[in-house]
Amino acid sequence: MSYIGYMPYLKPGSTLLSAVVIHNRMFQSSSAGQSLKAILGRENQRGVLGAGASEATRRLFGLSVPVRQVLEQHTLFGVYSRTMPASVANALASRLESGKGDAVHAAFRGHRRRRIPRLATTCLRSCDGCIQEDMDHQGFASWRVLHLLPSIGHCPYHGTELRDEGGISNNARRRWPLTLPGEHKSRKTNAKASTLPISDGYCAYLHLWKETFGGDLIGIAPDLWMLVMDAVVRRFGTLARACEVIEATIRQLWDVSVGQVAAALDIADGELFVNAELDQRVQASYVASRLVIVGALDHLQMSPPRRQSPPHLVPLELSQAKPFGSWLSPRTQAELRRYVMDANFPPALYRALAGDVDVYSIDASLRIDRLLVRRFATTLPGELLETMSKEQTWSNSSWLMKEMRRREVAWSRGNS
Ligand SMILES: [Zn+2]
Repeated sequence: MSYIGYMPYLKPGSTLLSAVVIHNRMFQSSSAGQSLKAILGRENQRGVLGAGASEATRRLFGLSVPVRQVLEQHTLFGVYSRTMPASVANALASRLESGKGDAVHAAFRGHRRRRIPRLATTCLRSCDGCIQEDMDHQGFASWRVLHLLPSIGHCPYHGTELRDEGGISNNARRRWPLTLPGEHKSRKTNAKASTLPISDGYCAYLHLWKETFGGDLIGIAPDLWMLVMDAVVRRFGTLARACEVIEATIRQLWDVSVGQVAAALDIADGELFVNAELDQRVQASYVASRLVIVGALDHLQMSPPRRQSPPHLVPLELSQAKPFGSWLSPRTQAELRRYVMDANFPPALYRALAGDVDVYSIDASLRIDRLLVRRFATTLPGELLETMSKEQTWSNSSWLMKEMRRREVAWSRGNS
């Protein structure tokens, strides 16, 4: 396997697949499979979610840029990692770097009855504005990372309707053709999002994907988002009131009902997503619902934190997470919360675990699979469980007592 030696500049925002196509054109003898292998390390890799990025970094940039930067600028990792806790994003990045392409879906797993939304479109998509811009600036068109987001129907850069191109087939596993945008038969995108009216809400939402991809919208990361939701509920007095105002704002900005927005964007919680977010029951990795709410909050002059807040936005005032009504000491609460959030569970789980409940009732109220809760309990340090067991009373059926008994049994077996 040889290095390419020369590759035209792959600008931030272009997919790695664009480089594969160019490689294929430069080395006319090589087959599609050979080009895929040359850039992404494997024939069956498309590099969309981040698999193959370390190979591509070596082959395309000669390691002059960190793999993490390639992941963030040329793959959908640059979008989805923004809503993950730093620990989860870092772990995912290193799994991707070591070639574990299945890592992305694994990072999204977690809830029962709440399916993982599709992470990338099954076909390639193009925008006339982007094609024109690329031709003017670099002489060839490249596939854009953001066009592969299933929950948009229009180009976030130009606002024009996207066109489905390449890989248009019911067979999602069919390999995409090695062509560049504009070279293939295309048709109006069939993404559900394209059925939404072009409204202020939808336009702001498209723009927010750009902000997310650029790493500017830091307020959607779990730690800050939790404080944002806290601050919003505080501002309106109650969760119900906050929900009512935000839903009314969404209806006004998008010109359709909240349920229609949820359906068109494939939001897992459906029309109740605002409530689920305010209640902090949503796992960090879901981005679309979060961005719809950010758009409404920006409009209400309660903007979530940006890396640099633009002058037209009024930032929401946040305050530190406060202990809530549980017998656990503030320190124990904070420690439990840290473990819950680092494991990519929603903050609501930590409030549930602070109470004398069993895994069945957690499953019923939060829709987090009881087996996952039980497995998560096994990862908590013994000292924390010990402290929690002393600070308040627990019934024998509680998740905490069951986990402590399990450890005792395991310990005595190990010593017999
Ligand atoms: Zn465009």
